[in-house]
Amino acid sequence: MVRLQGANVLVVGMGKSGLAAVALLRAHGALVTATDSRPREQLGVFDAEYVLQDDTAFTGRDVIVLSPGVAADLPAVERAREAGTAVIGELELAGYSLKGPSIGITGSNGKTTTTALTGHILKQCGIASQVGGNIGTAPAAMVGSSREDQWNVLELSSFQLETIADFRARVAVALNVTQNHLDRHYTMERYAAAKGRLFETQRAGDFAVLNAGDPYCRGFGEAARSQVCWFDFERPAGGGIWIERERVVFNGKAIVRTADIPLRGRHNQQNVMAAAGAAIHAGAALEGIEAGVRTFPGVEHRLEFVRELAGVKYYNDSKATSVDATLKAIEALGGPLWVILGGKDKGSDYTPLREPLASKARAALLIGAAAPKIAGQLHGAAPLVECGTIEAAVERAAAGARPGDTVVLAPACASFDQFNSFEHRGEVFKKLVGER
Ligand code: ADP
Repeated sequence: MVRLQGANVLVVGMGKSGLAAVALLRAHGALVTATDSRPREQLGVFDAEYVLQDDTAFTGRDVIVLSPGVAADLPAVERAREAGTAVIGELELAGYSLKGPSIGITGSNGKTTTTALTGHILKQCGIASQVGGNIGTAPAAMVGSSREDQWNVLELSSFQLETIADFRARVAVALNVTQNHLDRHYTMERYAAAKGRLFETQRAGDFAVLNAGDPYCRGFGEAARSQVCWFDFERPAGGGIWIERERVVFNGKAIVRTADIPLRGRHNQQNVMAAAGAAIHAGAALEGIEAGVRTFPGVEHRLEFVRELAGVKYYNDSKATSVDATLKAIEALGGPLWVILGGKDKGSDYTPLREPLASKARAALLIGAAAPKIAGQLHGAAPLVECGTIEAAVERAAAGARPGDTVVLAPACASFDQFNSFEHRGEVFKKLVGER
């Protein structure tokens, strides 16, 4: 653990994590300076010195605490490291003071769903827990409400994990490692290695819950000192959690019928297996896990059922901001579909959508700035309707849909051309559907 009492500490990045870090550092008796590329007036309120971010802010510090949004290899950070400054992340800082054991959940996709589900299951089982990390409350802000007899269920990204040294999860979960964030990590190997830190800091007696079907997760398990609980659709060699005769089972004992999982799609079956594995190793009973899975309301904006109207079902999957996520949505829903696509393009190739749209969609309704590009790439695969706005797309879908059809917002694009965030886009969609 880095010494903080009386230390000259710089906190970089004053979003939620940075604000929580400042408060925690003050409680440790550190002399805190905060820095951000935005001026102080645009930041939340905090009790520390402030300097606008430039190279000089980083010099002469004993400790630098990085928010997850800040690259760990900024040249100024590298120079400070070489000059002997300890560089840690906000998670590592929180880990010094968090009471109670932690469940750390990482992966490229499915983290939020699995974290929320794990928290819900523990609640159903009467096991005390608090949920945070990427999903909401910053780990440093969870310290005050942490207790020795309460689990911390944490959604953790590669950015939080890449700098950990002492942070240790009693139960560590990895769902998958697929291409993502290469702008920050440069190569798959480095990206995977950042996630792998979660398993490297575990000790004998801890547990790792890992996807046996993912090559990177297998690597984490092979290197781990902790005891591995594998999960997969087929029985993993050596046992664990898998699906057998339409049931999720733990070493052959039934946990829940797949038909009783309210979340749709095979990817969500993986999330259920991962959450069940985490809950089992936090002491949950299998019956409690079943009740938790069956009653899980899902996470907003992730293939969220909105309503049925005139025999037509409406789903909000505004979080589907990539082509891959849209493919998952189309796979998970029964046809015939009306798929609302478009928004701010992220340089994606949309052609993988051709085949699933051709087989399931009555039409794709195109909105936002990416519409012309999507239209060019999907031309001829399914009927395409240029709608411009989400309002027009909902209108068009409702006019054309017949009983038994499904309308889904799964845009495969970011939202920032027409909305503040994917949450905002989902809210607008739900309001439009709700008011019909
Ligand atoms: P994250 O927090 O990792 O972004 P979410 O739970 O918010 O994950 O899900 C984001 C999107 O990723 C979902 O809309 C879904 O399309 C996809 N997804 C969810 N779980 C999985 C999984 N286990 N494997 C692959 N894709 C998934």
